[in-house]
Amino acid sequence: ALEIGHDLGAALMTARALESERKLVRELQQVDDYRSQLIATLSHELRTPLTVIAGNLEMLGTLDLSPTADRYHAAMTRGTTRMARVVDDLLLLARVSNPQHPLERVPVDLRSVVRDVVALVESAARGQGLTLDVDLRDDIVVLGDPTELDRLLGNLVSNAVKYTLPGGRISIEAARRGNTVALLVEDDGLGISEVDQRGLFQAFFRTSNPDALREPGTGLGLAIVASVAERHGGRVDVRSRLGEGTAFTVTLPAAAPDDGQNAVEPGFT
Ligand code: ADP
Repeated sequence: ALEIGHDLGAALMTARALESERKLVRELQQVDDYRSQLIATLSHELRTPLTVIAGNLEMLGTLDLSPTADRYHAAMTRGTTRMARVVDDLLLLARVSNPQHPLERVPVDLRSVVRDVVALVESAARGQGLTLDVDLRDDIVVLGDPTELDRLLGNLVSNAVKYTLPGGRISIEAARRGNTVALLVEDDGLGISEVDQRGLFQAFFRTSNPDALREPGTGLGLAIVASVAERHGGRVDVRSRLGEGTAFTVTLPAAAPDDGQNAVEPGFT
């Protein structure tokens, strides 16, 4: 009887520990939901007045301003553009990290996603003396939201451009691997230390590397990449060595062969 009592006591303690662990998980989830909701609401509220400011600044720019007023106007325009970018990224992150937000699923040929993104960054890359290599294989259609996939690749490639020194090389590859499609963005730029790699996909994370911090950024780009990959049933992996370069691989489930026939051309927003 003593033994049974002892076993019962141990079982009760385990059940209580499990229950309090579950409660903690629930509470953490609530805090996380609240945080996401707060960010979504705030960025939404900021978007409208920002549009008003940007519109009025544009009108102001058409007037005949004195050189001093022109300087003030240019500074305000730069600040407003930057703020609009942060707010847009916050809104996008709130959307793609919200599991309740429905995902559009249409066949998307990654070749057109890569083409869009390359067209956008090509001149900046060339201006920085960077070489862009693109290697795309056949059969790289995935099911998903074309605009989100554009942003995923756009963020990875613009980071590669930002964090690679003049004379460097960036390569973009996409190929079918069994039931998945692998998208690789590799550079021989600044690289990321092992410690920094751990926080990389968290919102607002920026590395401690002073050379990287010289570039403007919000730390939202990779959080968006990770959320978009995840809600498409995929994942993102990083391989990097400080001072040598970085390779990001996004793996996404491939569309069934029949789905590819109506693959859409994504429009970059
Ligand atoms: P942002 O570039 O706006 O700071 P990201 O979330 O896109 O935000 O990236 C987070 C951090 O990861 C960056 O601040 C940068 O230090 C580092 N990083 C991202 N991509 C690369 C890369 N290709 N090479 C080196 N560092 C990178």
